[in-house]
Amino acid sequence: MILKFVQEDEEQEDEKDIFCLVKAKVIAASRNGMVLQCSRHEFRLSGRITIGNTAKDGQAVEDIETYLDCASQDTLEGLKTRPPKLSRPPNLYTVVIGTASAIPCLYTSIRVPDIIATMEGGICWVYQEGRFICPGCTGGKAQRFNSFMGCGVDLACPLCMGTELSEEHKNYLKSYYYHGSGVDGSEGEEEMRDQLEEQLEKLGYMNNWVPEGAWKIKGMYN
Ligand SMILES: [Zn+2]
Repeated sequence: MILKFVQEDEEQEDEKDIFCLVKAKVIAASRNGMVLQCSRHEFRLSGRITIGNTAKDGQAVEDIETYLDCASQDTLEGLKTRPPKLSRPPNLYTVVIGTASAIPCLYTSIRVPDIIATMEGGICWVYQEGRFICPGCTGGKAQRFNSFMGCGVDLACPLCMGTELSEEHKNYLKSYYYHGSGVDGSEGEEEMRDQLEEQLEKLGYMNNWVPEGAWKIKGMYN
């Protein structure tokens, strides 16, 4: 779970929200809400090294996400790669959630893009701050995530947009890439664009513009 410390001081409105990674335990619950005890975790990463700069392939992402779901020694030993370990919790927070409170400050089922977006300033090693890649021109990076395909399209970055969405997006792009202009692309175009826009918004990236090469089929190859 990622806990967001909401800035309540109005004078600090411009400042960025602060997020941290916590493991939450429900210690009391009633009809009106619940009390969570949250212990703060940090990945054992030195200095400026971040998840967005160390998850080097699809397998590493999968392993980090498996570990986040259940951060135990057993999980760690069963993984194919060595994700950074979570350090011992240095801080405890008690969080009260009322039934009427807006939950967006709490995130569960943490994926790698959530960490990159909320805690690492959106920087990912595949394409730094770009969210869409040319899957044929990444110099081998796309291959590591099974994202390689031809040029001329804008594919959602598998690392900072999510491997599942990127895979789905690749299949969408492929469906006309290999069939060229013979495919009537009008179907599904807007759905694809909306889905990508939603993901950008959900992750809270500053720029949520989706390039035409990511969704527009008609007219591109004829
Ligand atoms: Zn990226």
